[in-house]
Order: sequence, then C-alpha cells, then structure tokens
Amino acid sequence: MKKPKNAVYMKQDNRKNILNIIHGKQISRADLARKTGLTRASISGIVDDLINQGIVIETGVKESASGRKPVKLGMNIDYLYALGVNIRYDHCLVGLSDINGTVIEEERLDFSELKNSDEGIEKIVVSLKRIIAGNVREQKVLGIGISSPGPVDIYGGVILNPPRLELWQGAPVVAKLKQEFAFPIFLDRDAVAATLVEKNYGKGRKYKNFIQIEITNNGIGCGIVIDNKIYRGVDGFGGEFGHMSIDLNGKQCRCGNVGCIESFASIEAIMESLEDACPEVKSWQDIVIKSKDDDAFVDIIRREARYLGVGIVNVMNLFELEAVILSGEVVFEPYLLITELRQFINQRSITRTIKTIDVLVSEKDYNQHSVSSATTVLEKFFSGELMDF
Ligand SMILES: [Zn+2]
Repeated sequence: MKKPKNAVYMKQDNRKNILNIIHGKQISRADLARKTGLTRASISGIVDDLINQGIVIETGVKESASGRKPVKLGMNIDYLYALGVNIRYDHCLVGLSDINGTVIEEERLDFSELKNSDEGIEKIVVSLKRIIAGNVREQKVLGIGISSPGPVDIYGGVILNPPRLELWQGAPVVAKLKQEFAFPIFLDRDAVAATLVEKNYGKGRKYKNFIQIEITNNGIGCGIVIDNKIYRGVDGFGGEFGHMSIDLNGKQCRCGNVGCIESFASIEAIMESLEDACPEVKSWQDIVIKSKDDDAFVDIIRREARYLGVGIVNVMNLFELEAVILSGEVVFEPYLLITELRQFINQRSITRTIKTIDVLVSEKDYNQHSVSSATTVLEKFFSGELMDF
C-alpha cells in the first residue's frame, strides 16, 4: 500500500499545484476548485495565504451565468524577477524577466572580439549589475539562469566543450558569477532552456508530454518534457535528438556515432550538400523561397521532413509524447515542412490508428532571448525547488 503523505507535504503539493494553474493566466477561485478537485474552503485557505505572501493578487471580476462576480486571481508580476544570461557564439544576451516571463530589460553584449571567458564574465557582471540597479530591488531577484550551447555540466556549473564555443570551453561560469552575486545561480543547455520557455509560456503549455526540436544554423537542439518535467537523464546529457543515428553505415559524427540525424538534417549538412550544384543557396530561407518555382527545392524540404520524421517517430514510439514543437531557422514559412512532417509522423507512429500527434511551430525563437535562461530559474520556483510555498 502506498504510504499516505503527511499533511504538511500535502498542503505544499496543493499550494504548488494551485500556483502552477494561476501561473500565466487569470482564474477564479471556483474554477480553481473545479480544476484541482479541492473544496472551496481549502482553495480559499491556500489562496488567502498566497495573497498575504504577495505571490498572488486579485485582478478583477468575472461575469458568470448566475450573475455573481467572482474575483479572478493572477500572479503578482512584481513579486519576483529572474535574470537570464544567454551565451551565444559571438554575443551574449543579458536580461531581466518577470514571473510571467516578460522581459523587462535586455542587453546584447558583442563577444566577437572576446579574448577569453574571464573577459566575457566581466562584461556579463557589469551588465547584470546595471540591469538590477535600474529595475529592481535585489531582494526581489530569485536568481540567475545561464544557458549556453551544450554540452554543459549542469550540476558543476561548467561549460564543457561545445563545438565553436572555444573560448568558453571549461569555463566555471556559475562559480565565477557566485563571486559577485549572492543569488542562486544555475547553468543549463540552451535547447533545454528554450524548451522550458515553451513549457511555461509558449505552445507547450497545452501539453504535459512533448518534444521541442530547434534546427538552427548552428545545429540541432532538443528538450523533452515528460509528465510536465524536463527529461534530463542521469547527468543532464539526455535529449540529444540530433545525435540519434538513422543510418548504420552513415557518416562519422563528432559525437562518436555514425549516421546521426545532424549529418542529414542540420542546415549545415544541407548547405554542404548544395555547395557545388547551387552555390547561390546560402540559407534555409533561400531553399524555401526557391521551392516556390523549383521542384528540386520542394524535394529538399520533403527530404528534411523525412529525416526529422524518422527520428521523431522513434522518440514517439519510445516515450508516447503528445506533440512536437519545432523552432529555429528551419521554421521560415514552414507550411510544406510541417504538413509533410505531420503526415509522415502520423502515418508511421505506433499509435497512428489511435490518436494524432500534434506538430506545431514555436511562436518565437526563444533561444535568441535572455528569457530562456531566466526561465531556468523561474521553473525552479514553480516546481517548488527554490522556495517553500
Ligand atoms: Zn552524432
């Protein structure tokens, strides 16, 4: 028999659930009771506590069929803020976001002339201090989230050896920032950070189980959400969709395997294959534009859908997810790619006769904003890791 949870933990769980429902939308107490199955009295007790703590506020009235006007509840956007540091290949985005994931201020630091990671850290520190001073009291800062291309050691706070990020390889970014700031500081892989934004504020809000795949000019990144949590594996290296092999006899990949999806479906691989025959084609956008009057380019998009589709079907058959969300340069005018992909996945997945897997395009390229890094901290708040609710 399952051991009953003690009352304190149950109360914490209920508070966490309620906060997660209120997060990002406005809802009445009655709707909260319906959604959670808790009594109106329990809801009132928990909500009153959250209001007294200043986390939740009453935001107005709502007309209902019976003519009563229950007050709606929403997050107090001034309750706390998170800082984000998004380290990119030749620049860095430093920003402050509120609890609803809205960017309050963001600064782009040019790192194209950077000499080493220490110089980068110095610039980041100056920027963070300036943004805090101009916007918010330090007591309201929940923490700093750093994201960078992987691989990264999320538990040790060290950027490991991401290709093309030579200056940052081995940089203990969390320890360095801890010398300057007393807030909790975390490091995460950029694709995971972008997936967390999708989960909390984007199209992923609708799903408890989905995969976010970004195909950018720099490679293929991925984050997998299972039962509303990022799936990380043992040490945080899980979810490398781009290094799933789809060809036993394929090209050697830098990851040690052969025939990885990256070597077929990354924008870099596609550009390489077109180099001799079509030197004028420089980007995925060029391919999409040319596909409007040249069937050879329609074929390239269809082929891309098949390569990605093979991998996605494997993931779906393993984890039985509800949706795929695509982002990055590859979603430029994505109608053909998405239509082909949707068809491919729903013809081949093991659940094809039972249900449809949603294939969606991200609203925004979250990886290009500091909010993705800040969300790694906000996620810890809403999961109850950073605070006793
Ligand atoms: Zn590989």
